[in-house]
Amino acid sequence: MIDLRSDTLTRPTRGMREAMAAAEVGDDVYGEDPAVNALEERVAALLGHEAGLFCASGSLANLLGVWCLVQPGQEVVCDRQAHIARAEMGAHGALHGITMRTWDSADGVSDVATIARTITPDAGPYLVSTAAVALENTHNFGGGTVQPWDHLVGVSALCRDAGVGLHLDGARLWNAHAATGVPLADVGRLFDTVNVCFSKGLGAPVGSMLVSSAANIARARVQRKRLGGGWRQAGVLAAAADYALDHHLPRLGDDHVAAAAFAAGVAASAPGAVELSGVATNIVVLDTGDLAAAEVARRAADAGVLVSALGAHMVRAVTHQEVSLADAATAGQVLGAVLAGVPAG
Ligand SMILES: *Cc1c(COP(=O)(O)O)cnc(C)c1O
Repeated sequence: MIDLRSDTLTRPTRGMREAMAAAEVGDDVYGEDPAVNALEERVAALLGHEAGLFCASGSLANLLGVWCLVQPGQEVVCDRQAHIARAEMGAHGALHGITMRTWDSADGVSDVATIARTITPDAGPYLVSTAAVALENTHNFGGGTVQPWDHLVGVSALCRDAGVGLHLDGARLWNAHAATGVPLADVGRLFDTVNVCFSKGLGAPVGSMLVSSAANIARARVQRKRLGGGWRQAGVLAAAADYALDHHLPRLGDDHVAAAAFAAGVAASAPGAVELSGVATNIVVLDTGDLAAAEVARRAADAGVLVSALGAHMVRAVTHQEVSLADAATAGQVLGAVLAGVPAG
């Protein structure tokens, strides 16, 4: 099976497991895990922020990042395909009393004017006040799209001028960095709070980091404990993330090459299903046309390729370090044949 359902499927390599086994650890709730403390410092510095909080998941880091910026009864606004809106089980509302409004966007990238029209800061006694804007980079359900630098700068200025916070869901910010070469700290500094994940293309088994000001991180640390997210010898996981930054961050470009090969394979038989120019990183979104996405995923599985059906007519394929360039190209041909209605075999 060639498994392109997600880059979360990556399993720790032998080298990563050795680093985990060798980690010096302590009780992180006491602040005494040296591997966690070192990783929090490393990633905060990498992203141009004062402090970091190592978390069990990206959903938790997003939940805490937005919580730092938005009071109960206020709103965070984001695009309609955002992970925080679609894939976090309503946690921001269910747990923190935060409401959400979304703006329309096909690929997760929107112009500054759209966001300016959406926000309502200090809305007074009648409308919900916008306390934060959230962006996603790269954009998952948008197809691995990269937010253009000018757009990030524009949104950051808009929010600063409006007195509105700005959160980045940077689960795959590493991929945006690999695709553009823009330094991570330059992007990080445009935001008040940033989440990055080690458990996606970086290949760590577990873990995400929230970075922000020291004051925000101190508050978030208390709220993480309140939510049951305090952990003890988490240094074994921090060691995996640290290893991933050293050894797997430099190879993310390979996944982007593989995604392009996959997309080209699809387009050879089913050119209407994918826009090749839109494939920017390790995610490829396919339009299944008249076919149901679940049916396409089922037929692809029968032919040895696993992909995710994420909408009625939307299939997602994600390349990662356990998928070779040749496998990605083969998988593209399989999906192309399925989409073109060519019988398998
Ligand atoms: C995976 C992901 C997250 C976090 O997911 P967890 O499974 O909670 O770690 C957040 N945002 C985006 C865009 C993601 O793809």
